[in-house]
Amino acid sequence: MIMPTLPIVNALTIDVEDYFQVSAFAPHISRADWNSRECRVERNVNRILELLDSYQTKATFFTLGWIAERYPHLVRLIVAQGHELASHGYGHERASDQLEAVFYADIHLAKVLLEDISGGEVLGYRAPSFSIGANNLWAFDCLVRAGYRYSSSIYPIKHDHYGMPDAPRFVYQARPGLIEIPITTLRLFKRNLPSSGGGYFRLLPYALSRWMLSRVNAVDHESGVFYFHPWEIDTAQPRVAGISHKTRFRHYVNIHRMENRLKRLLTDFKWGRMDHIFLDQGNLASAEAVAPA
Ligand SMILES: [Zn+2]
Repeated sequence: MIMPTLPIVNALTIDVEDYFQVSAFAPHISRADWNSRECRVERNVNRILELLDSYQTKATFFTLGWIAERYPHLVRLIVAQGHELASHGYGHERASDQLEAVFYADIHLAKVLLEDISGGEVLGYRAPSFSIGANNLWAFDCLVRAGYRYSSSIYPIKHDHYGMPDAPRFVYQARPGLIEIPITTLRLFKRNLPSSGGGYFRLLPYALSRWMLSRVNAVDHESGVFYFHPWEIDTAQPRVAGISHKTRFRHYVNIHRMENRLKRLLTDFKWGRMDHIFLDQGNLASAEAVAPA
């Protein structure tokens, strides 16, 4: 008799930042303006927490230090509801634009802040806009020094703003004591196709996104890492003026469809927290050291 295999658990991740902190808006919204913008993150995270609760799903929230400082109760609520709190750095600057010392200060500050507010240890980090790649792998050394145990910062695709197409597609040991859990891609026609959330998930038909993640589970036998942002479910967010057509399209496309698509995704796959999926399986000890030095 063939025993049915358990479905693969995929990692559901949310990058907790507000709409005005998106990297593509940086040339149009100065950092000094952040304080005067209407904040929508509290409402949006509350909606996500309700949604996850109704599907009895736990997730990982990569939270910006800037947000945690202003909404400490939101951070505590995330933890109280059984989700994993992780770090998205403090100020949402691309790691690829920073000097090593500045990057270290940012990730260290975020970890200390999040741990102070939550009272628990923060193990995971995701770089803003997946900005760790071939040119700044020193960032892994900073993450080890700051006490992180995993990173989910590399997107093994070609993209105009980020990406490291020749990086491993699945979890690997980036440094002793630190694993990298790349954003999920589907290998097709000798290329890595983005298959894990964000703008691509809004742009592509849902059936295609579902098919890609199913293939990763069925063919690669690996857990996928899916990500989205609180502003992606917010149809009433203030519109940012003066941006290019490309930026406008990428930011706003199909936002009105996002919540329903998330509901289908939560129904069609099994989901969990990054630490439960990747750290509890002994990855730190067993992951193959394949990272470029
Ligand atoms: Zn971000």
